[in-house]
Amino acid sequence: MNGVETARILDGKATALAVREEVAEGVRQLCAAGHPAPGLTVVLVGEDPASQVYVRNKDRAATQAGFNVSTVRLPAETSQGDLEAEIQRLNGDESVHGILVQLPLPKGLDADRALARLDPAKDVDGLTPTNVAALVTGNSGHVPCTPAGCIELLDRHGIELEGRRVTIVGRSMLVGKPFAQLALARNATVTLCHSRTRDLAAECRRADVVVAAVGVEKLIKGDWIQPGATVLDVGINRGADGKLVGDVDFEAAAAVAGAITPVPGGVGPMTIAMLLKNTLDAARTTVGAGGSTGDGSR
Ligand code: NAP
Repeated sequence: MNGVETARILDGKATALAVREEVAEGVRQLCAAGHPAPGLTVVLVGEDPASQVYVRNKDRAATQAGFNVSTVRLPAETSQGDLEAEIQRLNGDESVHGILVQLPLPKGLDADRALARLDPAKDVDGLTPTNVAALVTGNSGHVPCTPAGCIELLDRHGIELEGRRVTIVGRSMLVGKPFAQLALARNATVTLCHSRTRDLAAECRRADVVVAAVGVEKLIKGDWIQPGATVLDVGINRGADGKLVGDVDFEAAAAVAGAITPVPGGVGPMTIAMLLKNTLDAARTTVGAGGSTGDGSR
């Protein structure tokens, strides 16, 4: 390490473990009250290698938490109609409380149309138009797992957003945009950057909290970080040596930041933990056992 690491490391692995233990306890209570274990079904279309790994990890974590987990594997050449029919079938299956359509879908399939078919109550990834609208309007609904995990990580480390300048780099529906809504709901002043932003360095430099969700290895430099700022690195990139690297130059940023997430072991584990939390919430709502496992994400 060239710089002296001064930042507090926000340990997503340990935090995710704590969330997962709370979820497992929630599952035990649900079952003790005579209700079925939460059912989570992942729909995996095609053979994308990264998706296979993600699905395996989700499967393992959900099984450990006591869920009923299943994966529906469909061939890459599945038609839009057949995919939507499968989603409809799962919507009607009472043993399934959460449905996750693993993205990206193979070429030729329309993800938006497929997601729009999901019953919003079972949309534990928070991507249906109904849940997106709920997030924007401040109504209750499932929040996308990665930005919800970022908020949970901040909350559990006592880092507040109220009144603070938050710069988000990346405006995807999966991460950047929903995080912007969550931060706004926490009364942060939000700047949402993207590939056409003129001076990204300047936008980051004035931020108290920087969230990087781009998919470009080490795009965010150490001297873009204000001393003492919090840095959440959502990016997952495969470095030249095959190791995972984030969107932030970690060593340089950790020398100036107040708090920072590592890659791996930061935001990534939180995503799966929040998926479990959303699914437990969905199962509880179904049996009328009430909503969130914690203080919620907004
Ligand atoms: P995405 O849909 O590809 O969006 C990338 C965003 O970054 C876009 O808004 C794009 O701008 C912007 N961008 C690209 N190049 C840029 C540049 N040079 N300067 C500024 N902005 C730039 O990606 P995503 O799904 O949000 O994922 C982002 C990263 O997070 C990826 O590495 C992904 O693997 C990772 N991820 C991690 C988790 C986790 O659990 N940790 C979950 C989801 C995603 P435009 O809109 O202008 O094109």
